[in-house]
Amino acid sequence: MSEWFINQNRTSFQKRFFPESTRSMWSDWRWQLRHRFRNPAALARVLRLSDSERTALDHVTNGPPWAITPYYAALMNPDDPSHPLRRTLVPTLAENIPTPGESSDPLDETTATVAPNLIRRHEDRVVLLATDLCAGYCRYCTRSRLVGNGVRTDWQPALAYIATHPEIRDVLISGGDPLLLATRRLERLLTSLRAIPHVELIRIGSRMPLLVPMRITRKLVAMLKRHHPLGLSLHATHPDELTPEAGQALERLADAGILLAGQTVLLAGINDDLETLRTLMRGLVRHRVRPYYLYQCDPISGSGHFRVPVSRGLILMEGLVGHLSGYAVPRYVIDAPGGGGKIPIASATLVGREGNDLLIRNHLGRICRYPDPELRGEPPC
Ligand SMILES: *Cc1c(COP(=O)(O)O)cnc(C)c1O
Ligand code: SF4
Repeated sequence: MSEWFINQNRTSFQKRFFPESTRSMWSDWRWQLRHRFRNPAALARVLRLSDSERTALDHVTNGPPWAITPYYAALMNPDDPSHPLRRTLVPTLAENIPTPGESSDPLDETTATVAPNLIRRHEDRVVLLATDLCAGYCRYCTRSRLVGNGVRTDWQPALAYIATHPEIRDVLISGGDPLLLATRRLERLLTSLRAIPHVELIRIGSRMPLLVPMRITRKLVAMLKRHHPLGLSLHATHPDELTPEAGQALERLADAGILLAGQTVLLAGINDDLETLRTLMRGLVRHRVRPYYLYQCDPISGSGHFRVPVSRGLILMEGLVGHLSGYAVPRYVIDAPGGGGKIPIASATLVGREGNDLLIRNHLGRICRYPDPELRGEPPC
Protein backbone atom coordinates (compact mmCIF):
# COMPACT_ATOMS: atom_id res chain seq x y z
CA MET A 1 0.00 0.00 0.00
CA SER A 2 2.75 2.40 0.89
CA GLU A 3 5.67 0.56 -0.60
CA TRP A 4 7.08 3.53 -2.44
CA PHE A 5 6.99 5.43 0.73
CA ILE A 6 9.24 3.31 2.87
CA ASN A 7 11.90 3.86 0.25
CA GLN A 8 11.47 7.58 0.43
CA ASN A 9 14.68 9.35 1.03
CA ARG A 10 14.57 10.57 4.61
CA THR A 11 17.53 12.80 3.93
CA SER A 12 15.39 14.87 1.58
CA PHE A 13 12.75 15.30 4.30
CA GLN A 14 15.46 16.46 6.66
CA LYS A 15 16.92 18.89 4.14
CA ARG A 16 13.57 20.32 3.27
CA PHE A 17 12.09 20.79 6.73
CA PHE A 18 15.17 21.02 8.94
CA PRO A 19 17.68 22.70 6.63
CA GLU A 20 19.83 23.85 9.55
CA SER A 21 20.30 20.34 10.89
CA THR A 22 23.36 18.19 10.30
CA ARG A 23 23.41 14.43 9.95
CA SER A 24 24.69 14.01 13.45
CA MET A 25 21.92 16.21 14.84
CA TRP A 26 19.29 14.10 13.03
CA SER A 27 20.89 10.95 14.45
CA ASP A 28 20.77 12.28 18.01
CA TRP A 29 17.70 11.06 19.88
CA ARG A 30 17.59 14.16 22.04
CA TRP A 31 17.55 16.36 18.94
CA GLN A 32 14.69 14.22 17.62
CA LEU A 33 12.74 14.70 20.85
CA ARG A 34 13.40 18.43 21.02
CA HIS A 35 12.25 18.85 17.43
CA ARG A 36 9.08 16.86 17.73
CA PHE A 37 6.03 18.24 16.00
CA ARG A 38 3.75 19.49 18.73
CA ASN A 39 1.81 22.32 17.20
CA PRO A 40 -0.69 22.11 14.35
CA ALA A 41 0.92 24.76 12.15
CA ALA A 42 4.28 22.98 12.20
CA LEU A 43 2.67 19.65 11.37
CA ALA A 44 0.66 21.25 8.55
CA ARG A 45 3.95 22.10 6.85
CA VAL A 46 4.88 18.45 6.47
CA LEU A 47 1.50 16.72 6.14
CA ARG A 48 -1.47 17.79 4.07
CA LEU A 49 -3.98 17.64 6.93
CA SER A 50 -7.54 16.43 6.52
CA ASP A 51 -10.34 18.52 8.05
CA SER A 52 -10.76 15.92 10.75
CA GLU A 53 -7.07 15.98 11.65
CA ARG A 54 -6.87 19.76 11.54
CA THR A 55 -9.88 20.27 13.81
CA ALA A 56 -8.69 17.59 16.22
CA LEU A 57 -5.21 19.16 16.36
CA ASP A 58 -6.60 22.65 16.88
CA HIS A 59 -9.09 21.72 19.55
CA VAL A 60 -7.32 18.87 21.34
CA THR A 61 -9.53 15.81 21.61
CA ASN A 62 -10.42 13.68 24.60
CA GLY A 63 -7.47 11.49 23.68
CA PRO A 64 -3.89 11.71 24.97
CA PRO A 65 -1.67 14.67 23.99
CA TRP A 66 0.10 14.33 20.67
CA ALA A 67 3.74 14.55 19.56
CA ILE A 68 5.57 13.19 16.51
CA THR A 69 9.32 12.82 16.04
CA PRO A 70 10.80 14.17 12.78
CA TYR A 71 12.14 10.69 12.02
CA TYR A 72 8.68 9.11 12.26
CA ALA A 73 6.98 12.01 10.47
CA ALA A 74 9.33 11.38 7.56
CA LEU A 75 7.89 7.86 7.23
CA MET A 76 4.33 9.16 6.93
CA ASN A 77 2.60 9.70 3.62
CA PRO A 78 2.03 13.48 3.51
CA ASP A 79 -0.95 13.18 1.18
CA ASP A 80 -2.86 10.30 2.71
CA PRO A 81 -4.59 10.69 6.10
CA SER A 82 -5.37 6.97 6.09
CA HIS A 83 -1.69 6.03 5.95
CA PRO A 84 -1.20 3.49 8.78
CA LEU A 85 1.76 5.16 10.51
CA ARG A 86 -0.01 8.48 10.36
CA ARG A 87 -3.13 7.14 12.00
CA THR A 88 -1.21 5.78 14.98
CA LEU A 89 -0.04 9.25 16.08
CA VAL A 90 -2.13 11.99 14.43
CA PRO A 91 -5.38 12.70 16.30
CA THR A 92 -8.70 12.79 14.44
CA LEU A 93 -12.19 13.80 15.44
CA ALA A 94 -13.15 10.13 15.72
CA GLU A 95 -11.52 10.26 19.17
CA ASN A 96 -14.44 12.30 20.40
CA ILE A 97 -16.98 9.64 19.48
CA PRO A 98 -17.75 7.37 22.42
CA THR A 99 -18.67 3.72 21.89
CA PRO A 100 -20.64 1.74 24.47
CA GLY A 101 -18.45 -0.24 26.85
CA GLU A 102 -15.49 2.13 26.66
CA SER A 103 -13.87 3.76 29.66
CA SER A 104 -10.81 5.78 30.62
CA ASP A 105 -9.35 2.86 32.57
CA PRO A 106 -10.74 -0.24 30.88
CA LEU A 107 -8.31 -2.63 32.57
CA ASP A 108 -9.19 -1.21 35.97
CA GLU A 109 -5.51 -0.64 36.68
CA THR A 110 -6.35 1.94 39.30
CA THR A 111 -7.84 -0.81 41.48
CA ALA A 112 -4.85 -3.08 40.84
CA THR A 113 -2.41 -0.38 41.99
CA VAL A 114 -0.66 -1.70 45.10
CA ALA A 115 1.79 1.20 45.56
CA PRO A 116 2.15 4.46 43.65
CA ASN A 117 3.01 3.56 40.01
CA LEU A 118 2.94 -0.16 40.69
CA ILE A 119 0.28 -2.43 39.19
CA ARG A 120 -0.07 -5.96 40.41
CA ARG A 121 -2.47 -8.53 39.10
CA HIS A 122 -0.36 -11.65 39.40
CA GLU A 123 1.42 -13.43 42.21
CA ASP A 124 4.85 -13.39 40.60
CA ARG A 125 4.98 -10.24 38.47
CA VAL A 126 4.28 -6.52 38.55
CA VAL A 127 4.16 -3.54 36.22
CA LEU A 128 6.15 -0.49 37.29
CA LEU A 129 5.14 2.77 35.61
CA ALA A 130 8.53 4.47 35.43
CA THR A 131 7.52 7.63 33.58
CA ASP A 132 4.40 9.11 32.03
CA LEU A 133 6.21 10.45 28.95
CA CYS A 134 6.49 8.89 25.50
CA ALA A 135 8.23 9.89 22.27
CA GLY A 136 4.82 9.98 20.58
CA TYR A 137 1.34 9.25 21.88
CA CYS A 138 -0.51 6.35 20.34
CA ARG A 139 -4.10 7.31 19.72
CA TYR A 140 -5.29 3.94 21.08
CA CYS A 141 -3.12 3.97 24.22
CA THR A 142 -4.70 2.10 27.08
CA ARG A 143 -3.02 4.49 29.55
CA SER A 144 -4.28 7.65 27.86
CA ARG A 145 -5.49 8.74 31.27
CA LEU A 146 -1.95 8.85 32.60
CA VAL A 147 0.47 9.69 29.80
CA GLY A 148 2.01 13.01 28.87
CA ASN A 149 1.69 14.95 32.11
CA GLY A 150 5.43 15.13 32.69
CA VAL A 151 5.16 14.38 36.40
CA ARG A 152 8.50 13.09 37.66
CA THR A 153 7.82 9.67 39.06
CA ASP A 154 8.95 8.67 42.54
CA TRP A 155 9.96 5.00 42.34
CA GLN A 156 10.78 4.50 46.01
CA PRO A 157 7.39 3.23 47.21
CA ALA A 158 7.21 0.77 44.30
CA LEU A 159 10.76 -0.46 44.94
CA ALA A 160 10.00 -0.85 48.65
CA TYR A 161 6.89 -2.88 47.83
CA ILE A 162 8.80 -5.20 45.49
CA ALA A 163 11.62 -5.60 48.03
CA THR A 164 9.19 -6.70 50.73
CA HIS A 165 7.32 -9.20 48.52
CA PRO A 166 9.70 -12.10 47.82
CA GLU A 167 7.15 -13.85 45.60
CA ILE A 168 7.67 -11.17 42.91
CA ARG A 169 10.11 -12.54 40.36
CA ASP A 170 9.39 -10.51 37.26
CA VAL A 171 9.21 -6.72 36.95
CA LEU A 172 7.86 -5.14 33.81
CA ILE A 173 9.00 -1.54 33.50
CA SER A 174 6.41 0.37 31.54
CA GLY A 175 4.82 3.78 31.51
CA GLY A 176 4.88 5.89 29.39
CA ASP A 177 8.01 4.74 27.67
CA PRO A 178 10.93 3.88 29.99
CA LEU A 179 13.49 4.43 27.23
CA LEU A 180 12.55 8.09 27.29
CA LEU A 181 14.38 8.32 30.61
CA ALA A 182 17.97 9.48 30.56
CA THR A 183 20.31 6.50 30.44
CA ARG A 184 21.73 7.28 33.86
CA ARG A 185 18.31 7.56 35.46
CA LEU A 186 17.17 4.30 33.90
CA GLU A 187 20.39 2.71 35.13
CA ARG A 188 19.60 3.81 38.68
CA LEU A 189 16.23 2.09 38.43
CA LEU A 190 17.69 -1.12 37.01
CA THR A 191 20.43 -1.13 39.66
CA SER A 192 17.86 -0.72 42.42
CA LEU A 193 15.81 -3.60 41.03
CA ARG A 194 18.86 -5.84 40.64
CA ALA A 195 19.70 -5.17 44.28
CA ILE A 196 16.52 -7.05 45.19
CA PRO A 197 17.62 -10.71 45.25
CA HIS A 198 14.25 -12.28 44.36
CA VAL A 199 13.80 -10.24 41.17
CA GLU A 200 14.76 -12.65 38.38
CA LEU A 201 13.55 -11.16 35.11
CA ILE A 202 13.31 -7.48 34.25
CA ARG A 203 11.38 -6.43 31.16
CA ILE A 204 11.08 -3.02 29.52
CA GLY A 205 8.09 -2.13 27.36
CA SER A 206 8.96 0.40 24.65
CA ARG A 207 8.02 1.82 21.29
CA MET A 208 11.21 3.93 21.12
CA PRO A 209 13.22 1.62 18.82
CA LEU A 210 10.62 2.34 16.13
CA LEU A 211 9.67 5.96 16.93
CA VAL A 212 13.25 7.13 17.53
CA PRO A 213 15.68 4.32 16.69
CA MET A 214 18.53 6.73 17.49
CA ARG A 215 17.68 6.21 21.15
CA ILE A 216 19.33 2.80 21.00
CA THR A 217 22.85 4.12 21.43
CA ARG A 218 25.88 1.97 22.14
CA LYS A 219 26.02 3.58 25.57
CA LEU A 220 22.41 2.60 26.35
CA VAL A 221 22.94 -0.96 25.20
CA ALA A 222 26.20 -1.31 27.15
CA MET A 223 24.32 -0.20 30.26
CA LEU A 224 21.31 -2.49 29.65
CA LYS A 225 23.42 -5.60 29.21
CA ARG A 226 24.79 -5.22 32.72
CA HIS A 227 21.33 -6.07 34.06
CA HIS A 228 20.60 -9.46 32.53
CA PRO A 229 18.32 -11.31 32.24
CA LEU A 230 16.60 -8.42 30.55
CA GLY A 231 13.73 -8.43 28.09
CA LEU A 232 12.41 -5.73 25.83
CA SER A 233 8.81 -5.83 24.66
CA LEU A 234 8.72 -3.92 21.43
CA HIS A 235 5.47 -2.18 20.57
CA ALA A 236 5.33 -2.68 16.77
CA THR A 237 2.35 -1.74 14.65
CA HIS A 238 3.16 -1.93 10.96
CA PRO A 239 5.91 -3.31 8.71
CA ASP A 240 6.71 0.20 7.42
CA GLU A 241 8.21 0.85 10.86
CA LEU A 242 10.95 -1.71 10.21
CA THR A 243 13.32 0.68 8.46
CA PRO A 244 17.10 0.19 8.18
CA GLU A 245 17.48 2.56 11.15
CA ALA A 246 15.06 0.50 13.26
CA GLY A 247 16.86 -2.63 12.05
CA GLN A 248 20.14 -1.32 13.36
CA ALA A 249 18.60 -0.48 16.74
CA LEU A 250 17.10 -3.96 17.04
CA GLU A 251 20.36 -5.58 15.98
CA ARG A 252 22.21 -3.78 18.76
CA LEU A 253 19.65 -4.90 21.32
CA ALA A 254 19.66 -8.49 20.09
CA ASP A 255 23.47 -8.60 19.95
CA ALA A 256 23.49 -7.49 23.58
CA GLY A 257 21.53 -10.62 24.45
CA ILE A 258 18.33 -8.82 25.33
CA LEU A 259 15.23 -10.98 24.86
CA LEU A 260 13.15 -9.20 22.24
CA ALA A 261 9.40 -9.78 22.18
CA GLY A 262 6.95 -8.13 19.80
CA GLN A 263 3.64 -6.68 20.96
CA THR A 264 1.11 -5.51 18.40
CA VAL A 265 -2.33 -4.03 18.86
CA LEU A 266 -4.75 -5.20 16.17
CA LEU A 267 -5.97 -1.95 14.60
CA ALA A 268 -8.64 -1.41 11.95
CA GLY A 269 -7.27 -0.11 8.67
CA ILE A 270 -3.71 -0.17 10.05
CA ASN A 271 -2.74 -3.81 10.37
CA ASP A 272 -5.99 -5.82 10.20
CA ASP A 273 -5.28 -7.56 6.92
CA LEU A 274 -3.41 -10.79 6.45
CA GLU A 275 -0.75 -9.41 4.14
CA THR A 276 0.23 -6.63 6.58
CA LEU A 277 0.19 -8.89 9.63
CA ARG A 278 2.25 -11.60 7.94
CA THR A 279 4.79 -9.06 6.69
CA LEU A 280 5.04 -7.50 10.14
CA MET A 281 5.45 -10.80 11.99
CA ARG A 282 8.01 -12.11 9.49
CA GLY A 283 9.83 -8.78 9.58
CA LEU A 284 10.04 -8.92 13.37
CA VAL A 285 11.53 -12.40 13.32
CA ARG A 286 14.05 -11.29 10.70
CA HIS A 287 15.12 -8.67 13.21
CA ARG A 288 15.28 -11.32 15.95
CA VAL A 289 12.13 -10.10 17.67
CA ARG A 290 9.84 -12.96 18.65
CA PRO A 291 6.17 -11.95 18.16
CA TYR A 292 4.62 -12.36 21.58
CA TYR A 293 1.16 -10.84 21.84
CA LEU A 294 -1.36 -9.62 19.32
CA TYR A 295 -3.71 -7.55 21.44
CA GLN A 296 -7.34 -7.00 20.82
CA CYS A 297 -7.65 -3.19 21.16
CA ASP A 298 -8.68 -2.22 24.69
CA PRO A 299 -11.98 -0.36 24.99
CA ILE A 300 -10.30 2.90 25.87
CA SER A 301 -12.57 5.95 25.43
CA GLY A 302 -12.79 7.13 21.84
CA SER A 303 -11.05 4.15 20.25
CA GLY A 304 -14.04 2.59 18.49
CA HIS A 305 -12.65 3.48 15.06
CA PHE A 306 -9.58 1.35 15.78
CA ARG A 307 -11.35 -1.76 17.03
CA VAL A 308 -11.57 -4.90 14.92
CA PRO A 309 -14.30 -7.45 15.71
CA VAL A 310 -12.83 -10.46 17.53
CA SER A 311 -14.41 -12.73 14.91
CA ARG A 312 -12.20 -11.04 12.30
CA GLY A 313 -9.17 -11.23 14.58
CA LEU A 314 -9.69 -14.99 14.87
CA ILE A 315 -9.84 -15.36 11.09
CA LEU A 316 -6.61 -13.37 10.77
CA MET A 317 -4.94 -15.59 13.37
CA GLU A 318 -5.98 -18.65 11.34
CA GLY A 319 -4.07 -17.09 8.48
CA LEU A 320 -0.95 -17.01 10.64
CA VAL A 321 -1.03 -20.28 12.60
CA GLY A 322 0.44 -23.06 10.51
CA HIS A 323 1.06 -20.71 7.58
CA LEU A 324 4.01 -18.86 9.07
CA SER A 325 7.01 -20.19 10.92
CA GLY A 326 5.83 -20.86 14.47
CA TYR A 327 8.40 -18.33 15.69
CA ALA A 328 6.46 -15.66 13.79
CA VAL A 329 3.04 -16.39 15.30
CA PRO A 330 1.98 -14.26 18.28
CA ARG A 331 -0.68 -15.18 20.80
CA TYR A 332 -3.94 -13.33 20.26
CA VAL A 333 -5.16 -12.01 23.61
CA ILE A 334 -7.87 -9.88 25.11
CA ASP A 335 -6.74 -7.96 28.16
CA ALA A 336 -10.02 -8.50 29.93
CA PRO A 337 -11.83 -5.34 31.03
CA GLY A 338 -12.24 -5.00 34.74
CA GLY A 339 -8.83 -6.48 35.47
CA GLY A 340 -9.26 -10.04 34.24
CA GLY A 341 -5.74 -10.12 32.83
CA LYS A 342 -4.62 -11.24 29.37
CA ILE A 343 -6.75 -14.09 28.12
CA PRO A 344 -5.59 -16.01 25.03
CA ILE A 345 -8.29 -16.54 22.43
CA ALA A 346 -8.21 -18.92 19.51
CA SER A 347 -10.63 -20.67 17.21
CA ALA A 348 -11.49 -24.12 18.42
CA THR A 349 -9.18 -26.71 16.90
CA LEU A 350 -10.33 -29.41 19.29
CA VAL A 351 -13.30 -30.71 17.32
CA GLY A 352 -14.33 -33.68 19.43
CA ARG A 353 -13.61 -37.30 20.23
CA GLU A 354 -14.37 -40.68 18.77
CA GLY A 355 -13.64 -43.38 21.34
CA ASN A 356 -9.94 -43.13 22.07
CA ASP A 357 -9.30 -40.71 19.20
CA LEU A 358 -9.15 -36.99 19.66
CA LEU A 359 -10.33 -35.08 16.59
CA ILE A 360 -8.30 -31.97 15.86
CA ARG A 361 -8.51 -29.50 13.00
CA ASN A 362 -5.33 -28.33 11.26
CA HIS A 363 -4.55 -25.03 9.48
CA LEU A 364 -5.96 -26.33 6.18
CA GLY A 365 -9.22 -27.39 7.79
CA ARG A 366 -8.39 -31.10 7.69
CA ILE A 367 -9.59 -33.14 10.66
CA CYS A 368 -6.74 -35.18 12.13
CA ARG A 369 -6.83 -37.91 14.76
CA TYR A 370 -4.64 -38.26 17.78
CA PRO A 371 -4.77 -41.46 19.87
CA ASP A 372 -5.61 -40.27 23.34
CA PRO A 373 -7.17 -42.63 25.84
CA GLU A 374 -9.97 -41.12 27.84
CA LEU A 375 -9.04 -40.04 31.33
CA ARG A 376 -10.30 -42.46 33.99
CA GLY A 377 -10.91 -41.58 37.57
CA GLU A 378 -9.61 -38.38 39.10
CA PRO A 379 -7.36 -36.08 37.06
CA PRO A 380 -3.78 -36.50 38.27
CA CYS A 381 -3.30 -32.82 39.13
C1 LIG B 1 0.70 -7.61 30.83
C2 LIG B 1 0.83 -7.60 32.26
C3 LIG B 1 1.78 -8.41 32.89
C4 LIG B 1 2.72 -9.31 32.13
O1 LIG B 1 2.02 -10.38 31.56
P1 LIG B 1 2.80 -11.52 30.77
O2 LIG B 1 1.71 -12.38 30.23
O3 LIG B 1 3.68 -12.22 31.74
O4 LIG B 1 3.60 -10.85 29.70
C5 LIG B 1 1.85 -8.38 34.26
N1 LIG B 1 1.03 -7.60 34.99
C6 LIG B 1 0.10 -6.84 34.42
C7 LIG B 1 -0.78 -6.00 35.28
C8 LIG B 1 -0.04 -6.80 33.03
O5 LIG B 1 -0.95 -6.01 32.46
S1 SF4 C 1 4.15 4.30 23.61
FE1 SF4 C 1 2.89 2.98 24.93
S2 SF4 C 1 2.44 4.21 26.78
FE2 SF4 C 1 3.16 5.61 25.16
S3 SF4 C 1 1.30 6.33 24.17
FE3 SF4 C 1 2.01 4.55 22.98
S4 SF4 C 1 0.90 2.81 23.89
FE4 SF4 C 1 0.76 4.52 25.35
